Amino acid sequence: MSSSSHGAPSRVGSAATQLTRLGRGQESSLLYVNPPVVRGTTVLADSLAQWRQRAGLRSSDKPQANYGRFGTPTTAAFESAIAELDQAYRALCFPSGLAACTHALLSVCSPGTHVLISEFAYWPLREFAENTLRRLGIEVEFFPELDADGVAARFRSDTCAVYLESPGSITFEISDVGHIAARAHERGIWVLMDNTWATSLLFKPLAHGVDIAIQSASKYIGGHSDCILGVASCNQNAWELLASSVTRFGQTASPDDLYQGLRGLRTLGVRLREHGDSALALAIWLEQQPEVAVVCSPGLASHPGHALFNRLFGGVSGLFSFVFRPTSEQRLTAFFDTLRVFGIGLSWGGYESLVVPLAARPDSELPRAASGGQLVRVHAGLECTDDLIQDMERAFTAMRGVSAVPEKIAQSS
Ligand SMILES: *Cc1c(COP(=O)(O)O)cnc(C)c1O
Repeated sequence: MSSSSHGAPSRVGSAATQLTRLGRGQESSLLYVNPPVVRGTTVLADSLAQWRQRAGLRSSDKPQANYGRFGTPTTAAFESAIAELDQAYRALCFPSGLAACTHALLSVCSPGTHVLISEFAYWPLREFAENTLRRLGIEVEFFPELDADGVAARFRSDTCAVYLESPGSITFEISDVGHIAARAHERGIWVLMDNTWATSLLFKPLAHGVDIAIQSASKYIGGHSDCILGVASCNQNAWELLASSVTRFGQTASPDDLYQGLRGLRTLGVRLREHGDSALALAIWLEQQPEVAVVCSPGLASHPGHALFNRLFGGVSGLFSFVFRPTSEQRLTAFFDTLRVFGIGLSWGGYESLVVPLAARPDSELPRAASGGQLVRVHAGLECTDDLIQDMERAFTAMRGVSAVPEKIAQSS
């Protein structure tokens, strides 16, 4: 069920074979290619002896034998697949990615402790920390540093956890994960990381010292914009805390959604390659447009974290952002409303391309040239790359055709 011991992050290609077999054979003697969907509440015991034996199993490990909330064989198939991909001790599923983020944090901090959260973490997680964690008496501090010295300078005697997301949400800052984790462990501090952008294929957080790695499986793992699902994988040290807390909260996920997650895994490698290739081509094209102040993709040489990214990651996925030079509302409207292949909408990781206007965090690494301009997050889907670039080209042309006097003049720098 758990890990093999290869330390190096694997490239997408080398995981291709693994993806076709993960999670198989968790249950019946009939070896279906696809682990069957098992729904259920009650699992009957044959005898009093068997009942007692199964009840005994419950205390020592994740109980899976006697009640549906503790997982069915479909749960076990999905969790074992993610654990294997992440080279983790075990993995646990959640009804959403956000639930995985919040419960991972809750499992390692207590009232009176201090938790450090990256300034660039997914914003609903920030809201949870600012509201719920603070209400529970946990001191929350957000930090913009990406290097180990900078983060370690914030450690206190009561710091219990460091929460990372790399690349950061929205502007894609790259954290020096391995060195941050090493410094945290010297002080007995837990290290958590949201790895949704890269997935287990492009980055292996646990191999870099992270204790709990989190993914929203609603994104690339599901891959088809049709399920909400989360997963957290961990090393053996973190297992007891994570598993006991999650079980007490009653967290579980639908076997149907878990099946969608397993199905998505089979094609994750080929999909990620396509998403990444198109995203990089689009990012390079966008960098050449005069209306664009900056493109935020760690795959670009212009990105401040590019060298570190190349050392740590196996490649880019499909999500990046760019910032327009300050322009008029009419021109922005022309841009968004002309797009036909790109939809306007939240989420990402599905087969369809999306754009959405968002606001960058004030401490982001954006250059001054980008201040005041509208940020656009882009997800490159599985459409033909040329069609995506042409769609952008038409939108930029439409924008240029709007003769309105800009409400704000671009700052030159
Ligand atoms: C979408 C997302 C989540 C939350 O996932 P849901 O499945 O929508 O709850 C968490 N982290 C990141 C980085 C995300 O993009």
